[in-house]
Amino acid sequence: MRRYLVAGNWKLNKGPAEGAALAREISELLQGRKLKGDVLVCPPYVTIPAVAAVAQGDPVLTGAQNCADQDQGAYTGEVSPAMLSEAGARYVIIGHSERREYQRETDELFVRKINLVHQAGLKAIFCYGEKLEQRQAGQAQAVVKAQLEGVLPQLESADAYNTVLAYEPVWAIGTGETATPAQAQEIHAFSRQVVADLLGAKVAEYMRILYGGSCKPGNARELIGLPDVDGGLIGGAALKAADFVGIIDGAEAAAG
Ligand code: PEP
Repeated sequence: MRRYLVAGNWKLNKGPAEGAALAREISELLQGRKLKGDVLVCPPYVTIPAVAAVAQGDPVLTGAQNCADQDQGAYTGEVSPAMLSEAGARYVIIGHSERREYQRETDELFVRKINLVHQAGLKAIFCYGEKLEQRQAGQAQAVVKAQLEGVLPQLESADAYNTVLAYEPVWAIGTGETATPAQAQEIHAFSRQVVADLLGAKVAEYMRILYGGSCKPGNARELIGLPDVDGGLIGGAALKAADFVGIIDGAEAAAG
């Protein structure tokens, strides 16, 4: 019912030459395969055109890791969603825990950014998830609910077509520690219920909710095979073509 999405977040890695080479390697490994889901790579801004020249959706799409909260004007150093679209991006990651932490980004900013992403005809991947101390205090569901409530109802338009969610427990990002299948399924099912309450049952039924946090070839099939997990947002393992494609293989196997 929901097509999986496996999305690579390259973070601050791979300039244009290296990025194009990695995208080419991934595309070649997937050559001729008819996938049951979608595959996306999100390089740094400057690498997007080089990657988009290689990854134009057959089957690998190109995305961005961030965008401005304004569409043009005197905002030094910023890049708008419309510019990203022109450069070849089809998705934009918003709300990643690293931007929440290091750039102090807030719900209000996420709302402005996602609205512009949608206005540019792009899809947003909205990330959320609790920190270790919040989970240990038994607050995981409350934190996740507040993060979704802080953004989704404020959007001008949010539907299962233009918005993807990515549950990323902060304690699992880049740590090698992965949520257990039970932990992941619990929060994904809970998130879907929150989406149903905020945006309606139909949207919740079709909205894709990705898992992120030390996803790798060895655990992808089990995680992505969970009833409410619709793919993965992949950090470290997205930087090696064989590992990234191994995760796609896991998603394909999970899709049956
Ligand atoms: C991420 O940063 O979105 C992520 C999931 O990273 P990693 O796969 O390296 O844990």
